[in-house]
Amino acid sequence: MLSAKAPNEPIPFIKEQDLEVYSRCRDIAFEVQVGLHELLGHGCGKLLQETAPGEFNFDINNPPIDPMTGKPVDSWYKPGQTWGSVFGGLAPTYEECRAECVAMLLSCDFSILKIFGIGDGTEDINGPAGDVLYAAYLSMARAGVAALEYWDPKSRKWGQAHMQARFSILRTFLHAGCEFASLDYNEKDASDLTIKIDRGRILTDGRLAVEKYLRELHIFKATADVRRATKLYEGLTDVDDWYENTIRPAVLAKKTPRKVFVQANTVLEGEKVILKEYPATPEGMIESYADRSYV
Ligand SMILES: [Zn+2]
Repeated sequence: MLSAKAPNEPIPFIKEQDLEVYSRCRDIAFEVQVGLHELLGHGCGKLLQETAPGEFNFDINNPPIDPMTGKPVDSWYKPGQTWGSVFGGLAPTYEECRAECVAMLLSCDFSILKIFGIGDGTEDINGPAGDVLYAAYLSMARAGVAALEYWDPKSRKWGQAHMQARFSILRTFLHAGCEFASLDYNEKDASDLTIKIDRGRILTDGRLAVEKYLRELHIFKATADVRRATKLYEGLTDVDDWYENTIRPAVLAKKTPRKVFVQANTVLEGEKVILKEYPATPEGMIESYADRSYV
């Protein structure tokens, strides 16, 4: 349902030369992304907690090392504190972002792509599994651009947790090494906006940037460090003048009408239940409704 689309629907922001690989691989890339996001994204990680006064779910005398500072962690969830109570309004979008980054990072591992039935596990960015990985990175960047639709210029706030997360990942790509990714346009109003991802550097610059971002997101969550987490996340999802006044209007101009889904019906033919499907046209939509005796 999430990936439902009309046949020949235009694909804004994807370069002409990427259209073939993108349209061929985006559905399977999406499947990998969702699988890794839900199972290994939301499904991983431990919160360091003082579960009752003086009782810890980690060795307080030999605490884990914070990989960013190289020193033992010095913060954790105190008795009664939870992830939600410490991170408050930041929690949902921050957690979506962590899960998305886990998916972006693990999809760089070709043995993981193989588990999804893609390729034979050999690392080759130019092979068929590389196509899926490239489509996954293009998709994420495209979602990050399209996310601006969900940012409200009046309140200067994000209205959708996943979209805010994707915008921060787009910005992580844009900051990854010299021109790993860029938003390209020639027209002043950016009406010809397209996304560039350097396919040959996904496994180096791209992966490294995502890894660094995920490490920060993950450790700040595990150690209840809401102060550093807020600084990081707000910094990356702040919409500056260029995004607000050039990129966002270009995104809104490309907005496609809300989708209408043509639903199939089931009909009884004697003892047999038959699934009746309809063409993806206005006529198909009307026919699907007209066939429902209960409407
Ligand atoms: Zn999620």
